[in-house]
Amino acid sequence: MEDTGTTEATNQSPPPVTFDSFHFEAELMDGLRAMNFEKPTPIQQQAIPIIMKNRDMIACAQTGTGKTAAYLLPVINKLIQSPGDFIHTLIIVPTRELAIQIDEALQGFAYFAPVSHIAIYGGTGGISFEQEKKALTQGANIIIATPGRLIAHFNMGYVQIGKLQHLILDEADRMLDMGFSDDISKITSYLPKNHQTLLFSATMPPKIRELAKKTLHDPEQINISLSKPAAGVMQAAYVVYDTQKIGLLKSLLQDRKIASILIFSSTKDKVKELEKELQRSKINIAAIHSDLEQDQRNDVLRQFKNKSLQVLVATDILSRGIDIDSIGLVINYDVPGDAEDYIHRVGRTARAETTGVALTFVNPRDQQKFKRIEDLIGYEIKKLALPPQLGAGPEYAPEKNKEQGRGHFTKRKKR
Ligand code: AMP
Repeated sequence: MEDTGTTEATNQSPPPVTFDSFHFEAELMDGLRAMNFEKPTPIQQQAIPIIMKNRDMIACAQTGTGKTAAYLLPVINKLIQSPGDFIHTLIIVPTRELAIQIDEALQGFAYFAPVSHIAIYGGTGGISFEQEKKALTQGANIIIATPGRLIAHFNMGYVQIGKLQHLILDEADRMLDMGFSDDISKITSYLPKNHQTLLFSATMPPKIRELAKKTLHDPEQINISLSKPAAGVMQAAYVVYDTQKIGLLKSLLQDRKIASILIFSSTKDKVKELEKELQRSKINIAAIHSDLEQDQRNDVLRQFKNKSLQVLVATDILSRGIDIDSIGLVINYDVPGDAEDYIHRVGRTARAETTGVALTFVNPRDQQKFKRIEDLIGYEIKKLALPPQLGAGPEYAPEKNKEQGRGHFTKRKKR
């Protein structure tokens, strides 16, 4: 592996097991209690002391590990200790959904603390732009932003960022995948020299290590086991012909009393089709995809979060970063485009050590792709028998179906 100049975090003393051991301020502890957080997750145990020491850090951690609180808690704690009307922390994220989600988490943790914050993302109108401008000139403490929109503000010259203490790059791998590399460089060129930088990424490909080299100073590195879905997820698959998929889906949904079910499909056209088909079967379902306006997307997500909507069908835009509590069942209607996506999708269930079920429909064309996922996570996923009324499915023989699967694995479709 390439030398990145990072040092591994050392565990000289046993990791703390309660939030008390971080000696957070009372207002933050009140927020944690209100959120029912009792015990730090492994990433929080490792990252919080490093962040509190003001070291730069690179953390390899997926969504679902508690990474958001790992960086928000020490930042809020510092703000309680030295409050003021200045931009204290900048969090850069790949998507609007993630920006909104972090903003909401922040609202919970900082409920009792004197912390102002705003999520800044594209796709909204002039009124939002004016509000964002106000926040950026008058010094909202924590700014959570997608790159393009933030650059638009920087280009206007009014952003007061001279007192910045922390830069956080969240889901950095996703940002590079989405082509934000130059934008990140541009943003960092606007920032003052002496701030702490924290980089979070679900994967550590060489381009992330390059970014780390460019943006971090002598970072500590932590690694929260990747490439495996959380232990609480029960994973299984159905080996099916395409023609059997819709019947299988309907029979699964009709049998279940689960409050929140998330279905992923590969393209927005398929997502729209599924939405129509399932609505005809009187299933309480809505869809989310890139053709919806931002307000509509937020609305659907809100309904799903507050459980007035039972089933949500989505393209991959939802699979990363979006934090919806207690999804009982995730269904991959198609095998995801790459193995990391599978882990992210399955990560929607069994959040923070609860349990959930993830089912994947595997057609003959996708068998090789699915085998690659099994190889990556290091074990075979149980194959379930189809309901008898659907007839027999194909044999699971990834080797035989190799030719068909080739070339589809790493290619990302526009979603
Ligand atoms: P994240 O990986 O940041 O998206 O967090 C995943 C989920 O775990 C979110 O719903 C958090 O609210 C929840 N969570 C994070 N840390 C804790 C904790 N220490 N105790 C309980 N829930 C947590």
